[in-house]
Amino acid sequence: MAFGRRKKVKTFAEDELIVFENVTKTYSTGAPALNGVNLKIKKGEFVFIVGDSGSGKSTLIKLLLRELIPTDGEIYVNGARLSKLRRRQVPKYRRNLGVVFQDFRLIKNWSVYENVAFAQRIVQTPNRLIKRNVPAILSIVGLASKYKAKPVQLSGGEQQRVAMARALINKPPILLCDEPTGNLDPKNSLEIMKLLDQINKRGTTVIVVTHDKEIVNEMQKRVVTVRKGVIVSDEEKGGYIDED
Ligand code: ADP
Ligand code: MG
Repeated sequence: MAFGRRKKVKTFAEDELIVFENVTKTYSTGAPALNGVNLKIKKGEFVFIVGDSGSGKSTLIKLLLRELIPTDGEIYVNGARLSKLRRRQVPKYRRNLGVVFQDFRLIKNWSVYENVAFAQRIVQTPNRLIKRNVPAILSIVGLASKYKAKPVQLSGGEQQRVAMARALINKPPILLCDEPTGNLDPKNSLEIMKLLDQINKRGTTVIVVTHDKEIVNEMQKRVVTVRKGVIVSDEEKGGYIDED
C-alpha cells in the first residue's frame, strides 16, 4: 500500500455524532445479542430504542459506554473509533456520556447534594464551582429545595431526577438512558420523559431505551426498533410497533 504508514482516517458528515457500522456483539454463550447493526445518530437528536426484553438494547448501550467491544464492526463516537481507544483513554471518552439507569443507582446515605456533587469531584472540579453548579442543575430537574434530602425521603420520580442531575452536571454532549422509567408510575414516567425532552432542547443528544409504549407514542420522536439483535425499523416521529 502506497500510504501504508498513514493513519486510516474516516470522515463522516459533520453532524454525525454516533455511527454503528455493521456491529455484531456475541457473548461467549448463545446467539449474537446484536447482529449487523447499522445506525447513525446526529448531534442534537432524541432517539428512542425500543424492543422486547432480550432484543439487545442494553448491549447497545454498553457498547456505547465502551464496557463492551464489538465482536465485529465498528462504533464511532464524535469521530473516535471506540475499539481503538486505549485503556487510559476510556475515562476521558466516557466524559462524553451521561448515563441514567432504571434503578437510579444513588448512594443511599448521601444527600441529594452529595450524590450530584460526587460526579464533579471525580473530575476534580474545584469546590467553589461545585457549590455553584449543583444548585443550578438541581433547579433544572426541579429539585432545588430537596438538596438536603436522602434518597429514601424522595419518591421514585424524584430519585430519577437526582440521577439525571448527576448524569448531566459535567455537561456531557450525550445522555444515555436505559429504561429510565422502568420503576416509575405513568405520571412520573411522563414527567421524566418531558424533562428529557427539555434537556434535549437545550442541546444534549438523548438516547432512551424503553418499553413504555404510551410514552413513545405520545412523544413523537425518532423510534428505532430492535428485534433479536437486528434493527427492524427506524422511523422519524415514530410509534411503538406491537409485536403481536
Ligand atoms: P435487552 O436490554 O434488550 O433486554 P440485552 O442487551 O440485555 O437485551 O441482552 C441481549 C441478549 O444477550 C439476551 O439474549 C441476553 O440473554 C444476552 N446477554 C446479555 N448480557 C449477557 C452476558 N453478559 N453474557 C451472556 N449473554 C448475555
Ligand atoms: Mg436491557
